[in-house]
Amino acid sequence: MFWKTQFDPERYAKELLASLPPCTPHVAVIDNTLDSTFDTAYVVPAEQMLAWFKTHLTRAASSVPKDRAASAAFLRWLGSPSNDYSGHVACVEPEFFRQYSDYASDLVKEVKGVCFCPTCDLAYPEVTTSFGPTVDEGGGWKLGLELWLCPRGHELRRAPYRFHIL
Ligand SMILES: [Zn+2]
Repeated sequence: MFWKTQFDPERYAKELLASLPPCTPHVAVIDNTLDSTFDTAYVVPAEQMLAWFKTHLTRAASSVPKDRAASAAFLRWLGSPSNDYSGHVACVEPEFFRQYSDYASDLVKEVKGVCFCPTCDLAYPEVTTSFGPTVDEGGGWKLGLELWLCPRGHELRRAPYRFHIL
């Protein structure tokens, strides 16, 4: 007889939290999902990230138990930043942000943060979003490209997206 191990969300959330460095008063968001490149980190206050995340939690709520457990863990992580952080900035675990990477553009519009341009070697409080040319993929599908640019025009993020024309 085979026993199927049931997924335990609470246990998974605890293990995930135990494997991470503590949250810091400011956190860096890096989107390294498969078809997106993020050559920069968007640094925001943990408190504001928490408020934003709570707002978008319902919108992007996943039906996958593991994703839901990761979201629950993320709320706890963001909600208890460490005071003993000696000025460094913790990175948001990709496991946490993966489900929300489609909303990265909303994040920069809705949460005031700082974006670092490696070419300028400067941090900017503004990110300009721009759209590259679209490619026709057939069957009404098009492939678009969203770009994030620093004020001097350097590319900070390149995120492809698909959309359908009726
Ligand atoms: Zn630049």
